[in-house]
Amino acid sequence: MAKRLLRSWIEIDVDEVSEHLLIIGDLLASCSKCSSLDLKSDSKSCPKCNTQFKYIAFRNPEENFSKILKLKQENPNSIFIDYNDFKKITGSIKARKLFKS
Ligand SMILES: [Zn+2]
Repeated sequence: MAKRLLRSWIEIDVDEVSEHLLIIGDLLASCSKCSSLDLKSDSKSCPKCNTQFKYIAFRNPEENFSKILKLKQENPNSIFIDYNDFKKITGSIKARKLFKS
């Protein structure tokens, strides 16, 4: 069996993702809900707002494939999403809300 990482597309509730997303950077991880920084990349929930992390995104996935594989094995129930996709979608939602108000 050749198990490799291959990105696939799923339809997903972006608001739900925003509420439960752990964003992992090169040194620190952050909570998408309350923007709390300096979290550990293996955090299961946010120490500040207590949200449970169901989704995980890497800021630089290309440089972190081995870390992604390791985290995926440790968190089989978490959904790994593409950070740029998430940013693009939430950015366009914010822009739309701004024009409406
Ligand atoms: Zn938080």
